Amino acid sequence: MINIFQKPFAESSAVRFGLSFISRKYFSFKKIDLNIKSKEQNKDFDFFVIGGGSGGLAASKEAAQLGAKVGLADYVAPTPIGTSWGLGGTCVNVGCIPKKLMHIAAQYGESYEQQEIAGWSVYRQSIQNNWTQLVHRIQENVKRTNFGYRVSLRENKVTYFNSLATIVDQNTIKLQSGEQLKDAIYVKAKQILISVGGRPNYLPHIDNNLVITSDDLFSLTKPPGKTLIVGASYIALECAGFLNGLGYDVTVLYRNKILSGFDQDVASKLQEYMSYHGVKFVKGEIKHLQSYNESQREVTYNFGGQKEIFDTVMLAIGRVPNTQNLGLENVGIKLSKSRKILADQKDQTSVSNIFAIGDAVEGRMELTPVAIKQGRYLAQRLFNNQNEFVDYNTIPTTVFTPLEYSSIGLSEEQAIQKYGQENIWCYVSKFKPLEWNFSEKDNKSRGYCKLIVNRQDNERIIGLHYLGLNAAEVAQGYAVAIQMGATKKDFDKTIAIHPSSSEEFVLLKQIKGVSETDEWLCCG
Ligand code: FAD
Repeated sequence: MINIFQKPFAESSAVRFGLSFISRKYFSFKKIDLNIKSKEQNKDFDFFVIGGGSGGLAASKEAAQLGAKVGLADYVAPTPIGTSWGLGGTCVNVGCIPKKLMHIAAQYGESYEQQEIAGWSVYRQSIQNNWTQLVHRIQENVKRTNFGYRVSLRENKVTYFNSLATIVDQNTIKLQSGEQLKDAIYVKAKQILISVGGRPNYLPHIDNNLVITSDDLFSLTKPPGKTLIVGASYIALECAGFLNGLGYDVTVLYRNKILSGFDQDVASKLQEYMSYHGVKFVKGEIKHLQSYNESQREVTYNFGGQKEIFDTVMLAIGRVPNTQNLGLENVGIKLSKSRKILADQKDQTSVSNIFAIGDAVEGRMELTPVAIKQGRYLAQRLFNNQNEFVDYNTIPTTVFTPLEYSSIGLSEEQAIQKYGQENIWCYVSKFKPLEWNFSEKDNKSRGYCKLIVNRQDNERIIGLHYLGLNAAEVAQGYAVAIQMGATKKDFDKTIAIHPSSSEEFVLLKQIKGVSETDEWLCCG
């Protein structure tokens, strides 16, 4: 498979020419020198950051702004089929941003039907998405962001190394770069931050050259065609949702649960919605996978030896931390069973001057804003005598499936486990968003709201779940209220914004399993 990112972005001469052109055009007031590495060898740093993703970039810039002398190394190992990318980490290259752009693109396709129902004359033979154009547009955005990060490190006086970092001892880091990583230099640092993130997991019993992961999907040069997505994580469901929306035949192969770790009541409603809109869900595992012909794969499922041919097989079976070959054993940093770094509330590892944040740390939610906040707070604590910490109890997040799902705080299962069934209530509402009056497909579907309260604490809200349109936009404001300790009464006292889906949360009356009816509301 040819890949448009075979060579790390920063190292391609064509890209360098492009960058110098862009820099002349848009940043002509300043001369930008991207050849930092060679001039900055053998330097001592106050703070050295390993990993230039969400957490590492935030921490390094914050520390530098507070006067620390900061270095940062970022290196991306190519995937089995050769995909690689530039500075910025998972979120901007192969995560949140390209994924959301594909989600938005898929939604645009569906809006034609609604336009017609709403009276617009839409002249069309058939609606088809051009995958190559979509990927090209997304990769343009990725490249702009990569370049922007390099410039912002430079502007913040953070010394950037496009190198693989290995910890040699408590204050020494080896940096390897160049062809086959043959060039090595050593830098010294008083404090070290590990923010190396993670990468997708692979299956040991199949040929990984025959599959892709989310690391490859957003720069795939040919349309994915009929796709099998293995796994039922939020990444699996998001990719299944937008590929189906873009017009591809999609099957999700999953072992046990959909969206494990999320509220299962909501997850089952989401699965129902996605199935109704064309995504196939098959319970099982891959037993065997082989090439069917040059571009297709034959998959044998574990049940009954059933076989099926797919154009693309994508694994989304969880992620593993990038803690191998990092030299952690040289300093005795303790790891969990899943090889994640053990860090305390202050983000300090078992070695006093070495800190860790982001996806590579045990027990932290794998989310960009979490890594960024950890990085900024850590820099403020180390270099500005501040004492702020991330509150992990009320973290909001959204699953960008065709019907989006936002969650804040605890799921119903977690709330029962923490407080006991008798001490919680779930206020619920099924509703039909007003927008669906312009959709034939969504006539039978419903949105869903759920507010979980602690009855022993003034009905304080400990979980909020929303399955509906624009879920991220709906939930962010509620996250502030919940973070401030809002109760059900505070929600009841709030005047609704009408007509909206969000107003459901301030109108909730039914209690799941207590006063629930099968009625459902239609906004407006
Ligand atoms: P990363 O951003 O992964 O950065 C780590 C960097 O360190 C990488 O560039 C890595 O190559 C580099 N590195 C590793 N080892 C070394 C080494 N030895 N030397 C030098 N460099 C090294 N989060 C959200 O909040 N919202 C979303 O909608 C969302 N969607 C996602 C969708 C997908 C498909 C995926 C995969 C993730 C998504 N995430 C989302 C999660 C989010 O991307 C991560 O939580 C976030 O990027 C973690 O930041 P980090 O700094 O810990 O690691």
